[in-house]
Amino acid sequence: MKIVKNPKELQEICWDWRSKGFISGVVPTMGYLHEGHFSLLQAARKNCEKVVATIFVNPTQFGPNEDLDAYPRDIERDTRLAKEAGVDVLFTPEAGAMYSEDHSTWVEVPDLAKGLCASTRPTHFRGVATVVTKLLMLTMPRKAFFGQKDWQQLALIKRMVQDLDMPIEVISCPIIRESDGLAKSSRNVYLSDEERKQVPHIHMGLQHVNQLIADGERDVEKLRKAFTDYIGTNVALGKIDYAEFVHPERLTPINYVDEPTLLAVAVFMQKARLIDNLLLG
Ligand code: AMP
Repeated sequence: MKIVKNPKELQEICWDWRSKGFISGVVPTMGYLHEGHFSLLQAARKNCEKVVATIFVNPTQFGPNEDLDAYPRDIERDTRLAKEAGVDVLFTPEAGAMYSEDHSTWVEVPDLAKGLCASTRPTHFRGVATVVTKLLMLTMPRKAFFGQKDWQQLALIKRMVQDLDMPIEVISCPIIRESDGLAKSSRNVYLSDEERKQVPHIHMGLQHVNQLIADGERDVEKLRKAFTDYIGTNVALGKIDYAEFVHPERLTPINYVDEPTLLAVAVFMQKARLIDNLLLG
């Protein structure tokens, strides 16, 4: 596995692959890799002849009071895991190499960068869309792999790739969970022991709502109340940021569950804000 820090060097390697006709795949991450990331790397390894993994804690997707400096990092362990997953090139640029001082171009997908996580993180998705575009331009892959855990991000990237005619297939990978149901996340290290015991109930709350739908309930206000009550009882140390029933692709609100519906939620804990989602029905 080759480790590359220089964007231009990455571009040259990937250009060479492309000119030789290799099918390449990219897996963008912020590092501190866990089994969720690993599943994306495995999918890329299975579906592509050449695999690039990127590790970049992208400053432009963090708000002023967010955890950019505190974001967990362990590049040695990440390097070992990427190697184990069969990655060909691991790209680990410095922020200064990705953004020049006079950087002034931004990619925005306003329709999908509103509501849900954008309500508390208003500049987040502009940073995501911009860095993903840059990573796609540097790697020129045939396929790009993203996790369903960050559903809004995935929907937005799919739309961006479609709107801008990027010749890339976006492959979405299922959420990988701990054995008790908690969605794996680099930010789970922020949880206290007491919080860690409660947070599997976020996933159970989603399943509880799904069960109510299976039992015939369709009214979103009743379903939302059921979720809120469930979290209030079982995740006493948490506070709901949002619990939204939306169309899975357009992310527009749904009032009655008689069409494809995603329940997307975010819960504030002391130091972590956890997100999760479930396609209902
Ligand atoms: P991050 O490093 O958190 O920016 O995540 C990098 C990629 O891994 C994104 O496409 C995420 O959606 C994906 N990812 C993170 N956690 C999980 C998980 N538990 N299951 C599946 N994919 C995940």
